[in-house]
Amino acid sequence: MIYDVIIIGKGPAGLSCAIYTTRANLKTLVIGKDDSMLLKADKIENYYGFAEPISGKELLEKGTAQALRLGTEIIEDEVVSIEKTDRFKLTGVNGEYEAMTVLIATGAPVVRVPVKNLSKFEGNGVSYCTTCDGFFYRNKKVGVLGYTDYAVHEAIDLAAFTQDITLYTNNMPLSVSENLKESLSKFRINTTKIKELQGQERIEEIVFEDGSKDSIEGLFIAYGSASSTSFALKMGIATEGKSIIVNDKMETNIPGLFAAGDCTGVFKQVAVAVGQGALASRQITDYVRNMRKDG
Ligand SMILES: Cc1cc2nc3c(=O)[nH]c(=O)nc-3n(C[C@H](O)[C@H](O)[C@H](O)COP(=O)(O)OP(=O)(O)OC[C@H]3O[C@@H](n4cnc5c(N)ncnc54)[C@H](O)[C@@H]3O)c2cc1C
Repeated sequence: MIYDVIIIGKGPAGLSCAIYTTRANLKTLVIGKDDSMLLKADKIENYYGFAEPISGKELLEKGTAQALRLGTEIIEDEVVSIEKTDRFKLTGVNGEYEAMTVLIATGAPVVRVPVKNLSKFEGNGVSYCTTCDGFFYRNKKVGVLGYTDYAVHEAIDLAAFTQDITLYTNNMPLSVSENLKESLSKFRINTTKIKELQGQERIEEIVFEDGSKDSIEGLFIAYGSASSTSFALKMGIATEGKSIIVNDKMETNIPGLFAAGDCTGVFKQVAVAVGQGALASRQITDYVRNMRKDG
């Protein structure tokens, strides 16, 4: 099944766009996880139309019910990579998906990687992109820093280049889906808390809090969930800081790829996310209709 649009993120930006694209008769799939920022908001009293405060959770439930009633397909998955050929191919932890257009509405990237000297070695052995840099580490000793499905997915990607892979969880409990657990046997797993990274020009060692050390040639960061920043690094999406750059039609620098909501670094409010989702829907609808005409 090739969707007209796949929306990554089921917060207000993603669902708002889905409501419009579904009503415009575009085959729409929303992929997301249950961790919208809105769930953290106890009370919202500045969103139009609610005379009394409403909890973020209830507002999100209403938006989801509205999209479902209109016929949007919504599924639970974490997207770990997006590739563009003549269309978009998305890899999730639970499956693969294809679409003519994609909206990134994944919210603000929040994960900070709590490891000393990480930034010092960025570009010198520390990488955020297995797709971009995996090739440079053929038959080398590499690590993936992370503890979730995303990290395991990155380690699986790296296995095409080297068999010497360790997953470093930095004292975080491994949190991996059932369908990925079997792959773990291909990697070493080190759960010790990291003190710091060391090296001269390039990363050479991981030093742990218990005094032990591991020599290493490359360390790939996949800490927490795949975010808009990870997609940007892998696909060459233009960013400013951690925010995706969009124009006033919510287009990124990649044709057919759009972004809306907190991931664009705007005023982080529901009204803005919903507004950007609506704007993106217009452009996505035009884009898909033009492609249908051409095709
Ligand atoms: C404590 C708190 C209080 C707030 N109070 C207010 C308020 O009073 N008024 C107001 O207007 N705003 C408030 N906000 C801000 C508001 O919640 C956000 O601006 C809004 O939720 C942004 O919407 P979004 O759709 O861009 O992102 P989010 O709501 O964060 O949704 C992002 C979605 O993307 C999904 N996702 C992320 N990565 C992936 C991936 N790799 N694969 C699949 N899915 C993914 C997430 O699971 C989630 O579904 C508050 C925020 C917080 C934290």
